Amino acid sequence: MQFRIPGDSPALRQAIRVSQAVNRVQQLPTVFVGNPLIASFLAVVFWERVEPTLLVLFVASMVILWTPAFLSWRRLRHLPRPDDVSPGNERRAMIFSVIAGSLWGMAVWGLFPVAWADERALLMLLVAGLTGGSVTFFSSSPVASLLFFIPLTVPLFVQTVRLGDPEHPILPAGLGVFILVAILFTKTSWRQFVDNVRVLVERNQALAQAGEGQAQLERAFSRMQDLAMVDELTGLKNRRAFFDDAEPMIAGSRRREQPIAVAVLDLDHFKEVNDTYGHAVGDVVLKAAATRIVDNFREEQITGRFGGEEFVVLLPYTSPAQALVALERVRKALSATPIEVAGGPAVTVTLSGGIAPLLEGMDIETAIDHADKAMYRAKALGRDRVEVFLET
Ligand code: GH3
Ligand code: MG
Ligand code: MG
Repeated sequence: MQFRIPGDSPALRQAIRVSQAVNRVQQLPTVFVGNPLIASFLAVVFWERVEPTLLVLFVASMVILWTPAFLSWRRLRHLPRPDDVSPGNERRAMIFSVIAGSLWGMAVWGLFPVAWADERALLMLLVAGLTGGSVTFFSSSPVASLLFFIPLTVPLFVQTVRLGDPEHPILPAGLGVFILVAILFTKTSWRQFVDNVRVLVERNQALAQAGEGQAQLERAFSRMQDLAMVDELTGLKNRRAFFDDAEPMIAGSRRREQPIAVAVLDLDHFKEVNDTYGHAVGDVVLKAAATRIVDNFREEQITGRFGGEEFVVLLPYTSPAQALVALERVRKALSATPIEVAGGPAVTVTLSGGIAPLLEGMDIETAIDHADKAMYRAKALGRDRVEVFLET
């Protein structure tokens, strides 16, 4: 059972429940030492005038009552934040309160008539102290607070009325005002508690939202980067991405003193494909050809689209002779089966390729230039073939 929470939300309710449990765990030590201590003090003061068995029973009940609280405190105190607090926790606190409050109420009820004037003042002070403590202790659980101090203050109030001077009802009047003020304080400290928790919850939500915004920004940025790196039609790396990825591959190959080859591929008579079937079909064919080419290279062999239907491949750990084998495989894979355009023609595409070694100390642009020359020789020699760059 909770007092109404203004601007209630599931997050706020959960945070309140957690804070309530945290508050209780933090304040329990005072309570389970304080209650039996005050009870023992009263037992000593009234030892001569009240049946000792009753007094011992009273103190023993206080000790027994707070033993489970002590055990649960020992279990909970090392938990950083009991984020998963059961509703049973609040209920147990209320049961504790009403039992402890009633025990105090019965004690006050029994002791007040046999107390001398100054002892009555002492009892009232103790009751005031317990009530104040309850309001503070249960600032986060107002129902539990009321359940504690109402069973304790009301019997005292009744006794002051019964045993006091009706002509001068100063004690009951004062006590009545005190009870009203305590109820009022219970309400205001509850509101304050809720507001504090609300501030924390809203701050957390704002932080989470800011984090989400940041993540969205990062996703957009990464997509922009992808767009800048990937050729839109074929999905292949563009020139910049090719060089970015080539760099570490070249360094790795160099470290292991392995050869590196570069290849340039150009589709043959591709203009005719456009002229015959139209640019749209040309696009589909080009895309399929690009896919077939990349699929036939290994992963570390980096392929980029450099021009319209021109591709550059970096083959690390590969000599020109090995590159020739690889390119022949790709060339055959492309020309062997026509590319089927959905709802359109089947187009046979061939390519011409040139290979050059990327020698120690040579920059990659020079090697590409050499491979380009070899590719043009392949074109000149009749296309659908692969040539290796020959130094002249
Ligand atoms: P070859 O290379 O065998 O000498 O003949 P080619 O007809 O392929 O000549 P070239 O490489 O000089 O011309 C490339 C042609 O490829 C020109 C252009 O119509 C076509 N092309 C380039 N990029 C695209 C593209 O993105 N989509 C389409 N559909 N066609 C393209
Ligand atoms: Mg061409
Ligand atoms: Mg071309």
